[in-house]
Amino acid sequence: MLYRKMPKTGDELSILGYGCMRLPMVEGKIDEARAIAQIRGAVDKGVNYLDTAWPYHGGESEPLLGKALRDGYRQRVKVATKLPSWLIASRADMDRYLNAQLGKLGTDHIDYYLVHSLEGSSWDKLEGLGIRGFLDQAKADGRIVNAGFSFHGLAADFKRIVDAYPWEFCQIQYNFLDQQFQAGTQGLKYAAAKDLGVVIMEPLRGGNLGLPTAPPAVTDIWDEAEAKRPPVEWALRWVWNHPEVTVVLSGMNNDAHIAQNLAMADQALAGSLTGPELDLVDRAGRKYQELMQVGCTGCAYCMPCPMGVKIPNCFDSFNRMHMLGNKEEAKFMYIAFASGVTSHDQPGFASQCVACGECLEKCPQHIAIPEVLERVVAELEGPNFQAEVAAAKQHFETGLN
Ligand code: SF4
Ligand code: SF4
Repeated sequence: MLYRKMPKTGDELSILGYGCMRLPMVEGKIDEARAIAQIRGAVDKGVNYLDTAWPYHGGESEPLLGKALRDGYRQRVKVATKLPSWLIASRADMDRYLNAQLGKLGTDHIDYYLVHSLEGSSWDKLEGLGIRGFLDQAKADGRIVNAGFSFHGLAADFKRIVDAYPWEFCQIQYNFLDQQFQAGTQGLKYAAAKDLGVVIMEPLRGGNLGLPTAPPAVTDIWDEAEAKRPPVEWALRWVWNHPEVTVVLSGMNNDAHIAQNLAMADQALAGSLTGPELDLVDRAGRKYQELMQVGCTGCAYCMPCPMGVKIPNCFDSFNRMHMLGNKEEAKFMYIAFASGVTSHDQPGFASQCVACGECLEKCPQHIAIPEVLERVVAELEGPNFQAEVAAAKQHFETGLN
């Protein structure tokens, strides 16, 4: 495991951080035994930065992480969690949530505490409610050690927020498709120049950049490389190649993926990609931009939809269809996931959207959700849709027997 230093604190953090937002599930709940074994296994291999948040897994991620860190694991790691900024209506709320989080995590301090999912307007609201005094107080009384924020807004607001408080770190979305999106490269460099550690989320753009099979047009580009690497390695190595990056988060729940990520984190030195390799990644990024229809990261902040639309599933199938060019497979996956047949719950097809607009404000990617859902309906639901749904259900029921 390689480590990089938090500029202001000197903490040596593993370049691979464990994201606890996509833990393994069984029968609709976190598969506790498996999740704990995976987290402890990663810590045993050198991961020492563990990231969770109030809303992950419907509030169950923090308690799970607390359990995983018993038996001496807490002392070996730095814990990061986040103040749910959208739930804060008063200065007192800030203390209430932080204290509840300490209880859920079973710890007396949070090493890296973030104000969750900021953009310009949410920062202005929290500033008015006294967030700076709250962070000062929580640091002074030892409940938090380092203060940071995660960000999903515009680049100009990012700089404003960086300058508004003596943060130790920040967390931004960054990958080779998002070089000019949200904080982007200029935000990364700005934060690093101010001595903030930078934690990266969405290095695979909602998993799309890590699919084992890249779109044919992108595979052609990867094939030109002298060093052969799977798509996930190109994506992660590109992020780690930036010396300004401190930790890259990966939401892990699959043993093989964890092993693959750990192996990469043994080698991914900053500046280790060659000039021709960086050109190749830029070309792949441009090709992906051409193919992807929706910039959805699968974060699910737009959920729940009052009509039950499974918005991230709808967009994932839509993107896969355009990226991978296999309409039949995309339609099958769309029906499998959006019908609820695989998750044993209610259908959530794009056609259930009534354009109420409730999801729009919640989307950090500012996607025109109802409009894009109309396109999903047009391309993935057709005149024979009900018959196709029935056939897919039959397939799954047969498969389960
Ligand atoms: S606009 Fe559509 S998808 Fe969004 S919340 Fe309303 S019904 Fe759901
Ligand atoms: S539509 Fe927006 S909020 Fe919903 S999952 Fe996608 S990126 Fe997240």
